[in-house]
Amino acid sequence: MAGSRRAVFVCCDGLGRNWVRPDTTPVLDDLRQRSLWCDAHSAVFPSVTRVSAASVATGCLPARHGLHGNRMGLIEDGKIVVRDVGNPDFRTHMRRATGGTLLVPSLAERVAKAGGFIGFSNVSPGAAYFLDPEHFGHIYHRAGSYAPGGARIEGTQALEVSHDAAGDWAMTERFCREVREDRRPAAAFLWLADPDHTLHGVPLGSPAHHDALAAAGRCVSEVFRTVGRLREEGEEILLLVGSDHGQETIGAGIAIEDWLAARGLAGLLEAGDVAVAGQGTAALFYATDRGRAPLLGILDEMSRAEWAGEILAGERLGEQGFAALGGVVAAVDMARQGEANPYGVAGRRWVAAEQGKPVPIGSGQHGGWGPDETRPFLMMNDGGRSSGTLQRPTCITDIAPTIARFLGLPGEGFDGKCLTS
Ligand SMILES: [Zn+2]
Repeated sequence: MAGSRRAVFVCCDGLGRNWVRPDTTPVLDDLRQRSLWCDAHSAVFPSVTRVSAASVATGCLPARHGLHGNRMGLIEDGKIVVRDVGNPDFRTHMRRATGGTLLVPSLAERVAKAGGFIGFSNVSPGAAYFLDPEHFGHIYHRAGSYAPGGARIEGTQALEVSHDAAGDWAMTERFCREVREDRRPAAAFLWLADPDHTLHGVPLGSPAHHDALAAAGRCVSEVFRTVGRLREEGEEILLLVGSDHGQETIGAGIAIEDWLAARGLAGLLEAGDVAVAGQGTAALFYATDRGRAPLLGILDEMSRAEWAGEILAGERLGEQGFAALGGVVAAVDMARQGEANPYGVAGRRWVAAEQGKPVPIGSGQHGGWGPDETRPFLMMNDGGRSSGTLQRPTCITDIAPTIARFLGLPGEGFDGKCLTS
């Protein structure tokens, strides 16, 4: 395979750009010195993992790939039903309601006949499967691993790892073996659970957060070592290391459905004519033709509620790379106050409480368009040819077109742009 080109992307889920520093992430800071660093890199809206996975995989914004959020409304028998995209069976519901899954091809489809794709993910099943929802490549996840065509991978060939830092490490070792010796695909994604998984239960800047940053750094270091060996063997490898979003601090929670019900919309909520899909620090509002006017009519009052930040409706959703599609009529970014947490990290957010689930006040969260959650990091290492800082705005949708260009594949059909163009 000497002389062939391959690409590797590692995602440190939830690792905000302002945490990439010599004191907090020495491994990433060291790699940054030998890479092209994206200094104005941004998330997509909603800044949640499942949507981000689809945007990384397709190089497109949600308006184009069609996956709305971590939770998403589907029209089922004329009613809006909000479903959790994280569940393994979500794609079945999405296909039944919309006729398909993603509206645009994933990188896995683009490389299917040009060296193939593997994705290893230790986040939710939904986020893993939306890297390649129609099974053009290999997807490895603890809830089930799949070969091209959708056949389930069984036994020792499946991925049995824990949903924590130890699982990330075991997955990374397996990933490196697959990339170097076994599968040797043209494009390979490694999506770590940490630091995101840890931060959902601890404060930003806490010792546990720092441990999670170190654990993610150890995994990146192992991949970088593997890439180095492949380069010594004569392969041309493009290595991208980044994240999907950052995190902010939960200050308080509100059950938005209850707020709407108290203002006369209880019947419409019950009938499935109005629905709320909470996205952590944001929420999407869905309505049928019957629910649209009452919902739009309450937005003015909502904008004055202490829990609501900016509200976008209709075509203004396009400003966030979103679209009024599939019944979405509005979105709210939850309010933010400036004060610091016990570890000196500024910013506390209201979050949309999921019914029946406690709100972990003081822990991390994301989903909206707040200043820290929308700043992931990205660096591109091509063996030393590219270095320095890219000042122009970049987005997680730039990852797929950058890989496509490197592999010599057609560059049409992306919202993102190649980092080197
Ligand atoms: Zn994430």
